[in-house]
Formats: sequence, C-alpha cells, structure tokens
Amino acid sequence: MSRLLLENLSEINRQISAAPHILLFTDFDGTLTPIGEHPHAAQLAPETKTLLEQLFRQSNMTLAVISGRALADIQTRVGIEGLVYAGNHGLEICGPGFHFIDPEAAAQREALQQLAEKLSARMQAIAGACVENKGLTVSIHFRQVADKLVDQVVRVVRATVTPRHRQWQLTVGKMVYEIRPRVDWHKGAALHWIKDRVGKPKALTIYLGDDFTDEDAFAALPDGITVKVGHAEETLAKFCVANPAEVQQFLQWLLERNHDD
Ligand SMILES: [Mg+2]
Repeated sequence: MSRLLLENLSEINRQISAAPHILLFTDFDGTLTPIGEHPHAAQLAPETKTLLEQLFRQSNMTLAVISGRALADIQTRVGIEGLVYAGNHGLEICGPGFHFIDPEAAAQREALQQLAEKLSARMQAIAGACVENKGLTVSIHFRQVADKLVDQVVRVVRATVTPRHRQWQLTVGKMVYEIRPRVDWHKGAALHWIKDRVGKPKALTIYLGDDFTDEDAFAALPDGITVKVGHAEETLAKFCVANPAEVQQFLQWLLERNHDD
C-alpha cells in the first residue's frame, strides 16, 4: 500500500537534498491534466506549463514526459523545447541529441495500420467509439459510447484481437483499449534507457503516473520516488496523490524547496 505523498514531504526532502541530480519523469493524461471527455481536447493548463518550464531551468533537474500518446502529439501538447519526451508508452523517445524507436515495433507499422482499419470499419456502427492509430500503438476510445453499447465495443475488440494474434498485446485503460506490438520494451525499460542517455547515473528518479502501464516504471525504480496518481489500492508505487491538482502542488513544492537549498 502506498503512502500519501504530500504527508511525507520531509522524508522526500531529505532524499532530494542528498541527491546530486533529479530526474523527474511524469505521465501526461490523468497526471498533469485531468482526463476529459475528448482525448483530443486535453491541454496543459498555463500554470502547469509555467511550472514545468521553471523546473526544466533548474540546473539540478532533468525533465521527461512519458505518455501513451504518439511522440509528436505529446511534444505538441506540452510544447516545451529541450525536454525529454517518450511517446507510445516509451516505444519512441526523443531528447536533446538522442532519438529512439523500438525497431521491432517499427517493423509492425503496416500490420498495425491494417489492424486499425479493420477495427475502424467494425466500430463504425457504434456511436462514440473512436479508433486512433498512433503509429506504433492503437487506442480504441470508448468514453463517448453509451453504457448500453460498451459491450459491443468489447466484443468487436476481442473478436479482432484474439489470443491467436500473438503479435499484439491488448490492455485496457481508463475507457480505452490499447493495442501494442508484443515486444520486450515498456515504460520501465524506456526510463532506464533515458537515464543512461542523460548520463546522470547517481540521479534520484521521481516518477509520477496514473496509468496501468506506469506500473512497469514503478517496478523498475526500487530506489526512486514513485508516485501513483488516483486510486492507490493496487500499485507498486511507494507514494500516491489523489489527482492532477495534487501533482501540481507537489511540483510547486519541488520548485520552492530547490530555491531554498
Ligand atoms: Mg495517464
């Protein structure tokens, strides 16, 4: 069971004070921004963006945003140049002087496109369902689907991606199905790759996320400060906060304590 982050700041303060550098990873949807009705509408609040920019300018901090969205999408939505960005759950990464695409996932682009087309055609009859091809992964959003039609979405997804389709991994998030190529790569692997590139081996890692896929990152950081946003019953994260507003509070605290050092 994770502990409340905002009630344990003195302990975290000690850890940060002892660290030569901070590597701050954050998810986007549900972590920096509340999850809205339309995934296309999610925007960073101006005060959150300002806060990220200020943290980014701290000489003892490196910032990385890691998301299930496509890389270009997350770069545009955050819009701060020079940050490290990881899209498609870490399958593509871009930062100052480095760029990575998982080669196995990239090799499946065409097959994924065909799968997305097949799903789109089958979803057409279900009002509100939306298939989004993000290049290396596919999302099927059903937040806009009427309750009585959700079963139909589930049926179509399960009939299209069956256990026979070994190359795909199907997971369910918050009113969204995710289809990813079954490759040996996830957010945990991505963050270690980023850590190596950033070249701060002794950095303290802080990781904030609300997704099921963030659990891979929590598991990969036994010595880090891992923070689950939202329901904290079943998580590997050490700490939890209730919502993006509390994330904002924590980031503000992080900035202020840094100025006091
Ligand atoms: Mg999220």
